[in-house]
Amino acid sequence: MKQFECGSLVPGCEWHTRSNESAEVVHRAVEHMRLAHGETFIRENLVYNIKLRVVDTADAKAA
Ligand SMILES: [Zn+2]
Repeated sequence: MKQFECGSLVPGCEWHTRSNESAEVVHRAVEHMRLAHGETFIRENLVYNIKLRVVDTADAKAA
């Protein structure tokens, strides 16, 4: 599983997401950024920073 915690990019935000595919995690994270944090333009840099923070999680039973 791949996981992204928004708090690693936006301090104080407790939103997080996980998926089997990192591309799906990144997609959801970009959507969250746009809806929750007013990122109306998706910069290359934003996607890059999200990808940097997508981590592996071995927590398979919680899926
Ligand atoms: Zn957030």
